[in-house]
Amino acid sequence: MKFMCECGHPIYDSTDYLPYKAHLISDQDWFDFLDEIDHAIEKSGPTAKDKEKALMNIRSLSTNLSKMVYQCSECGNMFFDNNSPRLEVFRAASDSPNKTLLQSAHGDQWKGFLYGDWVDDNPIWRVKGYITASSLHEGKQCDDRVTLEKEYYLLFNELRDKSVLRSSILRKNGTIIHTWSLD
Ligand SMILES: [Zn+2]
Repeated sequence: MKFMCECGHPIYDSTDYLPYKAHLISDQDWFDFLDEIDHAIEKSGPTAKDKEKALMNIRSLSTNLSKMVYQCSECGNMFFDNNSPRLEVFRAASDSPNKTLLQSAHGDQWKGFLYGDWVDDNPIWRVKGYITASSLHEGKQCDDRVTLEKEYYLLFNELRDKSVLRSSILRKNGTIIHTWSLD
């Protein structure tokens, strides 16, 4: 999904872990949601199938009770998706609104991702190498494989040392040559 803010900034919803999107649950529903979690932990049956069923109930309920909220990172406008045909837009009252209202409660300490990719012959990309990380505003392009690997490992060590990384993958022509995750 993609839509345009009235300021001209495009807002994408095509991946997970977006810093400008939130899942909103009404206070009228919040305690029922917590009760369902309690029920899944305390009262679901003992088998793996029972646990899976309880987990699916929670996931299904979270989807049914949530409304999507987006914030334009350019102007701060907020958009509510209330299962109506169109998004409801709310404009900020101040000239300098907080534009990161929907980011993680952990702020800059949120654990993100790092990806490095090298493709010798890619008809779509203009460059052969690309590094993206949640902490980077823009991806880094690279036309030299050795430099790309060096930059990837530098960034990997930096983000892991700061404890702001949850997973990391480096690929060369589709083959994974380095991978790491918190698990
Ligand atoms: Zn905007």
